[in-house]
Amino acid sequence: MVTFYCVKCRAKKEVEESATEKRTLKNGRPALAAKCPDCGTGMFKIVSSK
Ligand SMILES: [Zn+2]
Repeated sequence: MVTFYCVKCRAKKEVEESATEKRTLKNGRPALAAKCPDCGTGMFKIVSSK
């Protein structure tokens, strides 16, 4: 599970990793995108390098 913050619900939401989408930002940083399971708002998260 991946934890996102939904700005609309103002709460943390857990999303299945398979429901997330990998993105790469303009600066080359990897990020994950997903939709809030409750309101459908797009959520975005920068993946911290491990
Ligand atoms: Zn939401």
